[in-house]
Amino acid sequence: MHELSIAQSILEIVETEMKSRPKARVMVVGVRIGAMAAVDAESLRFGFDASVKGTEFDGLKLELRITEAERQCLMCDHRYMMLALESNCPECGSHDAIPLGGDELDIEYLEVDDGKAGD
Ligand SMILES: [Zn+2]
Repeated sequence: MHELSIAQSILEIVETEMKSRPKARVMVVGVRIGAMAAVDAESLRFGFDASVKGTEFDGLKLELRITEAERQCLMCDHRYMMLALESNCPECGSHDAIPLGGDELDIEYLEVDDGKAGD
């Protein structure tokens, strides 16, 4: 399952990041995903929750942002932005287009409780 492996990749990045901050506890991870990555947000959330359950990251909140991707129409060379994979070219209606990026997955931010507050 595509989304489950993405969830696990996100967790691996979080884990690596938190190794340098052993006393801190990560509360929220913000992830940006390009529309061309064809990720189903609900499935990813579900896979993520399942992956953190019972681990040191239990309760970690995933915040997702799907960003638009640019594609170029193969019929008329028009470039356009789209959020859904099913988009047609707004100029000629063609379905055939090449992606110009937009399949990236970035960890945008981590919200961390460093244990200093309230102690
Ligand atoms: Zn076109």
